Amino acid sequence: MFDLIIRNATLPDGRTGQDIAVREGTIAAIEPGITADAGEVIDAGGLLVTPPFVDPHFHMDATLSLGLPRMNRSGTLLEGIALWGELRPTLTKEALIDRALRYCDLAISKGLLAVRSHVDVSDPRLVTAEALLEVRDLVAPYLQLQLVAFPQDGYYREPGITEALTRALDMGVEVVGGIPHFERTMEDGARSVEALCRIAADRGLRVDMHCDETDDPLSRHVETLAAQTVRFGLQGRVAGSHLTSMHSMDNYYVSKLLPLMAEAQMAAIPNPLINMMLQGRHDTYPKRRGLTRIPQMLEMGINVGLGQDCVMDPWYSMGTGDLLDVAHMAVHATQMGSIDDKRALFDAVTVNSARIMGLEGYGLEPGCHADMVILQATDPGEAIRLRPNRIKVIRRGKTIAETAPEVSTLMLDGRPGQVDPAAYAPKAAQ
Ligand SMILES: [Zn+2]
Repeated sequence: MFDLIIRNATLPDGRTGQDIAVREGTIAAIEPGITADAGEVIDAGGLLVTPPFVDPHFHMDATLSLGLPRMNRSGTLLEGIALWGELRPTLTKEALIDRALRYCDLAISKGLLAVRSHVDVSDPRLVTAEALLEVRDLVAPYLQLQLVAFPQDGYYREPGITEALTRALDMGVEVVGGIPHFERTMEDGARSVEALCRIAADRGLRVDMHCDETDDPLSRHVETLAAQTVRFGLQGRVAGSHLTSMHSMDNYYVSKLLPLMAEAQMAAIPNPLINMMLQGRHDTYPKRRGLTRIPQMLEMGINVGLGQDCVMDPWYSMGTGDLLDVAHMAVHATQMGSIDDKRALFDAVTVNSARIMGLEGYGLEPGCHADMVILQATDPGEAIRLRPNRIKVIRRGKTIAETAPEVSTLMLDGRPGQVDPAAYAPKAAQ
C-alpha cells in the first residue's frame, strides 16, 4: 500500500509508461504497471514528470521591487546597482518578507522548489539577512531557500562590509559570495577572491561569486577563483555566476581557462535572461550577446546550472519565476537547438543546479524525496519550447499547486473544436 501512485508518466530520460509510487514522502518505486493500491492515484496521461525546477542564482531581497524608488532609466547594470543603493536604506524587514513570500508563491506555482538567493550584506544593518533568514524558515515546508552572503557594493569598497559579511555568516547565511569585478582594482578583486575562499575553507562552506559580469575580456577573476578553489581544497563547492566576460575573451586564453575550471570542479551559473538584457551595452553594432560559453563548458564536463537572477527589480523589469523561460532564452542565445542540446539545458534548470546547491534527496529515483512536477508536455525539449502549464506540483508526495491544462476552443467550420498546444510536436522530430 502506497500513499500515492502517479500512473503513466514519461520521464526526462525518455522512459514512457512509468508508474511512480510514493510512501511517506519518498519515492518507493518507479516501474511500469505497479499493481499495489494507493491512498491517491494521479493519472499523468503520458505527460512529462520531472524533478522540480531549481534556481541557483536569484536575489530575493530585491525581487518585486520594480519602480522603487524609481525606474532604471538607462537599463544598465551600473544604474541598477546605484538604484538598489538608493532603495537599500529604506528597506524594512516587513516589506522584504512580504515581497519574498509573494515571490515564493509564484515560484511554487511554476514548480520551482529550490532557490539559491544572494542576500546583500552591504548595509551593515543586515535587515536583508534578517528578513531572508526568517523567510527561509517560513517557506521551508514547501521551498528550500539557500542564502549567499553577497557584498553587492564590493568586499573592500566600503568600511564595515568585511565585518558585515562575517556577521551574516554567523547569523546562518550558508554560502560565501563576492563580486571581484566590482572592486576598485583588479588587485582588490583578486584579493577579495582569496579572502572569501579562505573564509569558506575555514567554515566549511560553499562559494558562489558574481564573477566577471562585464564585457571586458580582460576581466579574468574566474581564473583566480579556479586557482584559489584548488589552493584551499574547495573542489566541487565553488560556483562562478555570470562569467560574461568569457564571451569576449580570446579563444586561446579560454582554451587554457576551461581546463583550469574543470580541474577545480567549479560550476558555472549563467543567467541568460539578464545577461542578454544587460551585456553588450557599450557596443553599437555588431552587439555582443554577453552570455558565457555554455556549450564549450558542457563539452569540458563543467557543471552548468542556469539561474534567473532577477524578477521585476532594479536590474530587470521582466521575469516570471519560470526556469523554462531561462532555458528557452539559453536555447536561442547559445544556438543549442538539437534534441540533445535541449535535454542538456533542461538538466541545467533541474539536476545540474541541484548539484550546485548540494541538495540532498533530489531526483527521480527510488529513495529520493517525492518532489515532482507534471508538465503539459511530453519531453524536455517540448517543455522548453512550450513553457507549459504545471498540471501538478508535488512536494513530499503531496500536491501543493495545480494548474488546469491549457486547451483552446476553436469555433471554425470544418476544423477541430479544440487545440492542445502539447499535441503539436511532429512525430518525426522526436
Ligand atoms: Zn546576481
